[in-house]
Amino acid sequence: MVNSSRRKPNILVTGTPGTGKTTTCEALAEATGLRHVNIGELVKEKNLHDGWDDEFECHVINEDLVCDELEDSMEEGGIIMDYHGCDFFPERWFDCVVVLQTDNSVLYDRLSGRGYSGTKLSNNIECEIFQTLLEEAKESYSENIVVALRSDTIEDMSRSVETLTEWVSNWRSSA
Ligand code: ADP
Ligand code: MN
Repeated sequence: MVNSSRRKPNILVTGTPGTGKTTTCEALAEATGLRHVNIGELVKEKNLHDGWDDEFECHVINEDLVCDELEDSMEEGGIIMDYHGCDFFPERWFDCVVVLQTDNSVLYDRLSGRGYSGTKLSNNIECEIFQTLLEEAKESYSENIVVALRSDTIEDMSRSVETLTEWVSNWRSSA
């Protein structure tokens, strides 16, 4: 069962931190009029977490609270979701799952520039080398809605936003 009642599609943009999810989502929201939901921001803003993880230096997100918070909006449609994970969202939520990918050395520079170092930096580079998010997306969603897009350069991003904008404007609910 897919998109039975939504009039607008929901898109998930995932990928290793630093691959350009937020920048891409913002541009895509601007181009399509769909609503960008940054899960990291939402979790902080609405306290949808169970505290701080010292090892991974991030909030321990409460997946049930996040899903409950978003259910109504997702049912309505028109959401561009931005998160570096994808295995706990209901499969029925998404019409398209985009996995952004970045060349390791480019990603290394972006993450160091963001102040990442040590284990946090190497964990994220490893995550990209092993294509962790692409595997997770393929395991969690129908392979025919999962698309991997390169995000090394501004040109890559413009092309992705263009392609996705066209896809959104051609989208029809199957109902
Ligand atoms: P994420 O949300 O996946 O962590 P961001 O969108 O915050 O990634 O991007 C991280 C940094 O990399 C930002 O400074 C952004 O401008 C830059 N960036 C992201 N994608 C690209 C790209 N395709 N080309 C050039 N710079 C990019
Ligand atoms: Mn981000």
